[in-house]
Order: sequence, then structure tokens, then C-alpha cells
Amino acid sequence: MKDYKSLIQQYEIDVYPRRDVTLVKGENSKVWDDQGNEYIDLASGISVANVGHCNPKVVDAITQQAKTLITCPNTFYNDAKAIFLEKLFSIAPKNLTKAFLTNSGTEAIEAAIKFARANTKKTKFIAAMKSFHGRTYGALSATHKKEYREDFEPLVPGFSFVPFNNFEKLEEAMDDDTAAVILELIQGEGGINIGQKEYFQKVRELCNQKNVLLIIDEIQTGFCRTGTMFAIEQYGIEADMMTLAKSIAGGFPMGALLCSDKIKIEKSKHGSTFGGNPLACAAGTAAIDFMLETKLWEQAEAKGKYFKEKLSSFNLSKVREIRVVGLMIGIELKEKPQQTIVELLERKILSLPAGVTVLRLLPPLTISYEELDKAIEILAEVLA
Ligand SMILES: *Cc1c(COP(=O)(O)O)cnc(C)c1O
Repeated sequence: MKDYKSLIQQYEIDVYPRRDVTLVKGENSKVWDDQGNEYIDLASGISVANVGHCNPKVVDAITQQAKTLITCPNTFYNDAKAIFLEKLFSIAPKNLTKAFLTNSGTEAIEAAIKFARANTKKTKFIAAMKSFHGRTYGALSATHKKEYREDFEPLVPGFSFVPFNNFEKLEEAMDDDTAAVILELIQGEGGINIGQKEYFQKVRELCNQKNVLLIIDEIQTGFCRTGTMFAIEQYGIEADMMTLAKSIAGGFPMGALLCSDKIKIEKSKHGSTFGGNPLACAAGTAAIDFMLETKLWEQAEAKGKYFKEKLSSFNLSKVREIRVVGLMIGIELKEKPQQTIVELLERKILSLPAGVTVLRLLPPLTISYEELDKAIEILAEVLA
């Protein structure tokens, strides 16, 4: 057997903090390494595998489409794209009527920033502290974390940061040159920080008054993760633009920017070679069909409640607080989560960090109760 680890260490630019495991296979909420060890995946590739790893419906759709047409220039119409867009808008918030399709989350954010600039002719953006919106220059400029920004400055000018859930500070930061406010409803990377409904309603109201666009980033919260198809449904507000990616196509790379009627963009002002390619669209249609057929948002809600109740019944001396929305789980620890993540990996559980002291869990929403019980048991021991 080849030494996969050495090959990657030799040839790949070393930007990722590595876990010492080589994953080769996945099925629903389980993954396997090259030694045949089985793991419970409580990370889903950061909420990518919401419909489970190698979901049969998604696999079939990709296989069929791969035999039919893999690539199609965006200057031509295409059947797989037409079907996907119809499906996507059957579940999207009703005020969002047009999409720009991308290959990733950061590209959806780039499109949102460019469209906001073009539509408002203004140049400033307000984002939240602890935000994460991606790694390309525009998205990075909206991302708060110092370690991600330093070495790459100067970034795109005009971005300022305000404390999350603090309306007064946001109001103070806004001026006549503010094009848009860009926010996550629940900050993922930043530590599973839950946005308050009242805060978002006030922000929406202020944006209306000041003619400022509201961009909502649902890249991590979208597609049933929080117990509704999109988290915004729980906030009673409308976004002018909404970004999607991660679980949109069952694990296949894809992203989308959804826009309201307000947003207009001239022909040839933006584009993408691969965005909305037939394979991604076929995978996306299948993933959304699966979510609808299984009412996946209800499963997320029920399993999240079950998880919180059951885990909370243990004496967890390492834990300060457990924050749960659907199956978006943040366990606030009394220390950095790295040691816990390593211990969980030794016990064959995949997990994630967030913020400074948060253990983040984003299981496939299809995870069985049996698997969930097994995971809770191990978590209770590791966090005791
Ligand atoms: C992951 C993520 C992004 C970036 O998406 P990529 O596909 O990695 O570019 C942006 N915003 C949020 C909230 C995310 O979770």
C-alpha cells in the first residue's frame, strides 16, 4: 500500500492543521481510514455532508449525469441547471428570485460583495467580529480573524467590524457610503454564536431606512442544519442577498448567491467557468430532493434536542455551556478544544474546533439514534 500521508506531506502546500488519519471511504455518518478503522463523523466536512456521506440518491445522480454531460459553458442553456434552479427556488425564501451559481462559499461571497458595490455605487461594508466568510480577497476582507488576515494585507478597503448582537454599535458604524451589512445568523467558525432574533429584525429595519443591503451568509447554517431549511426562516426577516454552499450538493463542490429583485447586474460584469456545471447541478437537485423527501430539517431539530438533553444529563466537568440549534452544536469548554478533539479521534470520533474554546459538532443530519447514542457516551467520558 502506498504511504498516502508521506505523499501529501511531500507534495501539498502545508496550510491545513492535520489529523493523523487517512480517510478513504464514507457511508452516511461513518467514515473509514486506510487501516480499516471505523469512525463516527460529527464534522461532516464542516457541514458539507448534511445528507450523509455517499448518499445513494446523490451518487446515482452524479453517476447518471457523468455519463451524459459533465461540462457545459454558461453561455449555453442546460437541462440539469434549469432543473436545479427550479428546485432551489422551490425551497428558497420567497423574496429571493435569482441566483448566481459558484463552486464554493467564498465565491458566493465575492459575488455578493461585487453585486453590492455595483448596485449601490457605495464602497463600505459592515461585518461582525468573529465572522467567517471565506479566504479569497473580498471574503477575507469580511472575515474578522486576525490570523487569517495578517500576511495578506492590504485587503479590500472599506470593511469595518462591529460586535455581534450589538445593534447600537452597528448603527454607529453605518454611514452614507455603507453599501451592505454582511452577517451570519449563527456564527459557525466564530464559535456557534447564536444571533438574536430581535437584533436581526432591528438590523433589517435600519438597512431599509438607510438604503443599505443586507447580505446573509447561510453557507454553514443552510440546508436543514439548524432545524429549518434555512436558518433565516427562524428570524422573520428577508435578506437582499443570501450566500449558500457547503451542503448544497450533497458534498459535491457548489455554491450559490441568491438575490432579491432589487439586485441588478449588467451582462458580462461577472461570471464563472465551472459555476453551475451539470454535475454539480444534478448532485444539488438530488440532495435537495432527499432533504424534502425525508423532511431532513425535522430530523435535525429532533436529533439536536435529543443530543442536548442526553449529553446534559451527564456530569461534564470540562464544559461551560452547550449551545444547540438543530444539529449545529457548540460545546463551550473551559479550555481550548484541541486536546479534546485528539482524544475524541483516538476514540474514533471526528469533531471540529470553533472560536477559542468551543468544540463544534456538525453531524450528518441523517445520523442514526444508535450512532448518536454511541457518540454521546464517548463525549460524556471525554468531557467528564
Ligand atoms: C465555509 C464557510 C465559508 C467559505 O466557504 P468555502 O466553500 O470554504 O469557500 C463562508 N462562510 C461561512 C459561514 C462558512 O461556514
